[in-house]
Amino acid sequence: MPQRYSLVSLLRHGLNRHTTWAPAWRSPQLKDRYDVIVIGAGGHGLATAYYLAKEHGVTNIAVLERGWLGGGNIARNTITIRSNYMRDASIPFYVKSVALYEAMTRELDFNTMHSKRGMIDVIQTWGMMRDRRRRQHIMDIHGATYEQLSVAELRHRVPALTGGGPEARLPVLGAFVHTDAAVNRHDAVAWAYARAIDAMGGAIHQQTPVTQLLRGRDGRIEGVETPRGTVRAPKVVIAVSGHTTSLTETLGLKLPLRSMNLTAFVSEPVRPLIDVIINCPDAGVYLSQTDKGELVIGGPPDPGQSYRRDIKQGVFEETVASMLSLFPAFKRLKLLRQWGGHLDIAPDASPIQDETEVPGLFVTAGWWGGYKAIPAGGLTLAHLVATGRPHPLMEPFSLRRFRHLDYQMETGTTTAR
Ligand SMILES: Cc1cc2nc3c(=O)[nH]c(=O)nc-3n(C[C@H](O)[C@H](O)[C@H](O)COP(=O)(O)OP(=O)(O)OC[C@H]3O[C@@H](n4cnc5c(N)ncnc54)[C@H](O)[C@@H]3O)c2cc1C
Repeated sequence: MPQRYSLVSLLRHGLNRHTTWAPAWRSPQLKDRYDVIVIGAGGHGLATAYYLAKEHGVTNIAVLERGWLGGGNIARNTITIRSNYMRDASIPFYVKSVALYEAMTRELDFNTMHSKRGMIDVIQTWGMMRDRRRRQHIMDIHGATYEQLSVAELRHRVPALTGGGPEARLPVLGAFVHTDAAVNRHDAVAWAYARAIDAMGGAIHQQTPVTQLLRGRDGRIEGVETPRGTVRAPKVVIAVSGHTTSLTETLGLKLPLRSMNLTAFVSEPVRPLIDVIINCPDAGVYLSQTDKGELVIGGPPDPGQSYRRDIKQGVFEETVASMLSLFPAFKRLKLLRQWGGHLDIAPDASPIQDETEVPGLFVTAGWWGGYKAIPAGGLTLAHLVATGRPHPLMEPFSLRRFRHLDYQMETGTTTAR
């Protein structure tokens, strides 16, 4: 059991000037054999290892991370957690994920600062209005919240939204509010999972890049090569977001994924202006305000294949122009930081979670907006790895769908394409 975090333990360790806290996770020796290797200590890798140990008693696990724990996209995303998706297959999966996030602070005894503040989609074209009404009806069936707002209700709820009037190129036509949407603290999610994995006997190895997948004579996965030596396991999970094909291609295995750059930037802190997540799918911008007062702003991905980690000037300018068309007063904001991350995106913008054609080699990939999916992604992939049977929530997201063109067409937050 990890040490409990509570007021009592805070006071007790405070008496000792906080020198007596045990490390939240260890740095154990790397063994040459495990039952399961998980590649990537981002959200999906950590969640998979956590549920393998918690739900299935598989604790002889190594999570191999090329950098530091939680330093990938889990640290680079804009932490929007929501379940307002379009397809029957997607909505129950994301509803489950949102529920698991809501319970995470208690379950893992780690404050993830979950803030259920809701998200408003601002609608500026009739095509988008039809899309969102359809989404509302499907979401109703699955018990997810999505309510229509009039323009007057929207402007009352978000006074800073003064653009998009009747004379604008894209006037605001209405809005939809998704009350289940939330933000939380991404570092806390990674650290909470790491602490729990360590407490159950799993091992997290940072600074351990996997350079090659190894296949046995029988065709099954055998293990991985790292600069620290060969590590063997009968089951290997690839959870490396954006870099999936770099690894699968070491075995000549091709997957229907493209790697793209998605970016965000933040403003200087300002007084509280916006207490919901605002998403403008027609304009192509979304934003929320942090507890510190900074506005966190994101746009659509750069449409080309890319591994850059900063923002392309054209994407930046378009995102800022979109924001100013709806929030003209924000032209006085100073921007402080910008960054980007690497996502791999499947042709239907839905995830891939499956065992590959190499027996024992599993993949979790295609996570365009995959932060919100971390708990349910880990739960369902762990089920497949441990039992050999797909979890019902993930069945539609297997690789089989590409053979039969049984696509689950979805979209990211800021684009309907
Ligand atoms: C700017 C931006 C904004 C976003 N906003 C949102 C949002 O608001 N909501 C949302 O739901 N999603 C959002 N996302 C998407 C989300 O961040 C990702 O889909 C999700 O984090 C991917 O899963 P992960 O956490 O496991 O990835 P990561 O944290 O990237 O984990 C993968 C890990 O694998 C490691 N790795 C890579 N190659 C190797 C190797 N060869 N050997 C060992 N380790 C390796 C990496 O170092 C990394 O730590 C956003 C992404 C970006 C970039």
